[in-house]
Amino acid sequence: MDAASSSTGAEGYGNTTRNGGIFSFLSSGFLISPSGDKVDLKEMQGKSVGLYFAANWYWKCETFTPVLHKVYHQLKEEGSGFEVVFVSSDEDQASFDRFHRSMPWLAVPFTDLRSRRYLTQRFQIEGIPSLVVLGPNGELVSADGVELVCRYGARAFPFTSERIAELVEEERLKHSSQTLEMLLSIEGRDYVNNHGKNVKLSNLVGKTVGLYFSAQPCPPCVKFTAKLASVYANLREKNENFEVVFVSMDKNIDDYLQCFDSMPWLALPYDEEFSRALARYFDVQEIPTLVIIGPDGKTVTKEGRNLINLHSELAFPFTELQLRLLQEKQNEEAKAYPSSFDHVGHHHVLNLVSEKSGGGPYMCCECNEQGLGWAYQCLGCGYEIHLKCGREGEEESAGKK
Ligand SMILES: [Zn+2]
Ligand SMILES: [Zn+2]
Repeated sequence: MDAASSSTGAEGYGNTTRNGGIFSFLSSGFLISPSGDKVDLKEMQGKSVGLYFAANWYWKCETFTPVLHKVYHQLKEEGSGFEVVFVSSDEDQASFDRFHRSMPWLAVPFTDLRSRRYLTQRFQIEGIPSLVVLGPNGELVSADGVELVCRYGARAFPFTSERIAELVEEERLKHSSQTLEMLLSIEGRDYVNNHGKNVKLSNLVGKTVGLYFSAQPCPPCVKFTAKLASVYANLREKNENFEVVFVSMDKNIDDYLQCFDSMPWLALPYDEEFSRALARYFDVQEIPTLVIIGPDGKTVTKEGRNLINLHSELAFPFTELQLRLLQEKQNEEAKAYPSSFDHVGHHHVLNLVSEKSGGGPYMCCECNEQGLGWAYQCLGCGYEIHLKCGREGEEESAGKK
């Protein structure tokens, strides 16, 4: 690590000290390198610093540390002058040492409990991992470093609100001019896989395409893949212009191949970096996720999974118009159901509710599938079922009537 020598550096550090800034408060007066060497605080002067609050015992920190590591290296190579300082919540010195050795940056000494506490309180850290970014003069730039790094990678630097506004605008423009080929092609590759054969992306243009973000050791993915496969088969049988492309979130190519083997549709060739960038572009928060792209190449909805779970193939083509038609149909059907109901699977009378009368998204206690809007509900017990899942208890309900 080289000492910063920019002309604003010394001034910046002075400013930090004068204003009672961060590093002037470190009671130990030094930071520590991953190999345990003392490093003078002057190393930090004039640099933008991310205070990284984390602990080895929490899986989210374990997951985020390599992501930050990558971004840190990238920014180093670009000569951006970005530093990270680890502020540990590890349980003891040995765990701290072990965790710190997996990082390329400095840390507040584990023995300096006072400083670690001070920083945690000063920045009101309520959860880890947390990355608080300070500007070259010690001023607070962003408290959302973790989210920004996950979403934008090294491009988030210098993490200022101006920079983030630029990135948001860039993304908006990208989404408004989006085409399927633009989304799925990369220099020299303009096809997807069909179990051994290549299919040109141009063949998919004009279809409704579901981008299926999924991975191998993931029980919800396995469950949804089966559901999607049946919907896919039904839509294809009806000659609907529907295609699905698997976007692998698998950690290696073997998992990818095994996962793809269980799917009847197409897949992007295995390319971890490309798939992750695509997931970031659509802000995919969990897997499985099904993003629906319309025939014009624009995003129709990111809620493909919910819509398939709720409506099966009736959800196609996933447009707002189709969803409104489904809603009207359900309203019509609900008229045939009594306003309260003695369901054999619950010991209280259930009431008919709609989205307007206290219903909402729910998990059906009878079939374990998602529901939305119309339901039979026992509010006190939080018990809800689909209208079609209600079963009348024969003698029981006859007796009560
Ligand atoms: Zn149900
Ligand atoms: Zn009840």
